Amino acid sequence: MRVVVLGAGISGLSTATLLRQRGDDVILVSAHPTEATTSHLAAAVWFPTAAAPADKVASWGSTTYDVLAAEAARGVPGVVMRESLVVYREEPGPQPWAAAVGDIRPARSDELPAGYTHGLRFAVPLVEMPTYLPWLYRQYIDGDGQQEVRRIEHLGELLDLQPDVIVNCAGLAAGKLVGDSSTYPIRGQIVRVANPGLAMSMRDESHPAGRAYVHPRTNDCILGGTLDAGAWDTTVDDEITRSIISRCSDLIPALADAEVIEALVGLRPGRPEVRLERDEQLLPGVPVVHNYGHGGSGITLGWGCAADAVRACG
Ligand SMILES: Cc1cc2nc3c(=O)[nH]c(=O)nc-3n(C[C@H](O)[C@H](O)[C@H](O)COP(=O)(O)OP(=O)(O)OC[C@H]3O[C@@H](n4cnc5c(N)ncnc54)[C@H](O)[C@@H]3O)c2cc1C
Repeated sequence: MRVVVLGAGISGLSTATLLRQRGDDVILVSAHPTEATTSHLAAAVWFPTAAAPADKVASWGSTTYDVLAAEAARGVPGVVMRESLVVYREEPGPQPWAAAVGDIRPARSDELPAGYTHGLRFAVPLVEMPTYLPWLYRQYIDGDGQQEVRRIEHLGELLDLQPDVIVNCAGLAAGKLVGDSSTYPIRGQIVRVANPGLAMSMRDESHPAGRAYVHPRTNDCILGGTLDAGAWDTTVDDEITRSIISRCSDLIPALADAEVIEALVGLRPGRPEVRLERDEQLLPGVPVVHNYGHGGSGITLGWGCAADAVRACG
């Protein structure tokens, strides 16, 4: 089949890669290079956040966990398994994401920061997207995938490429391109600091000042973050930067003095539910497979959604 995939973020690149692997003729169309996508900016730790429906998120997340863990094991650039600690101020109860993670144990009291009573220890994939996305793109191109840089205003413009199927992986813009008004931005601000020697991720999803997470990477450490549904403003808010550093310092005091490299803002592609389905109505004679609306979980769900999108192509 001849398949046009719109979007070169994680959703489009993973879908295009799997289509090429099964032998389809694939053209990846994108307005931006990979480094200008939301995917490039993501903290990119496996952890389901702001995505639904729960049963499918569990299944897509589990598939993606396994793919990324296998990539980490074989040394794919940018992918590592990161020891992690989630901390709580009260008994957390069962966590919906735990089944995919497998090995998980309660944290010992000597592993908890001051003020916390409970914690969970496990390992999850952490993906350094500025390394991984270009690698994935190169794999796709080297596997004879085609690409075209082009901005479109509506999906029908892609019919000039004579596709048998179009896959819509345009992230936050996807809804507008197909008349789906249920999509919305979920603004996220994060802070890159110099890594003060950390090797473990830590997060508090219920910090009173807003969620707090710390993800050490090779050359920096990502501190987060905000999750503001409906907010379109992509300018950095210095007050938010200070709050993020302050609440992350409650988890790891050394972060209070860490050198700030930069603060970043991205808009996650929000939708009440991920849209992953085959649409025969939108364009005359050419089916469209939608794969968008992953909220704060595009990297967490990417390979699982891509596999379903490929199946939906027929
Ligand atoms: C601060 C922050 C932290 C995050 N942390 C995590 C995390 O830890 N774990 C996790 O799983 N997720 C995380 N996310 C969410 C994740 O980044 C997104 O869910 C994911 O990047 C969505 O990927 P996508 O490929 O669907 O869209 P995008 O990466 O936005 O790619 C969309 C593509 O569509 C193309 N496109 C759009 N409009 C057009 C058009 N009109 N014409 C042509 N091309 C077009 C773009 O050029 C781009 O190539 C985070 C997001 C943010 C902002």
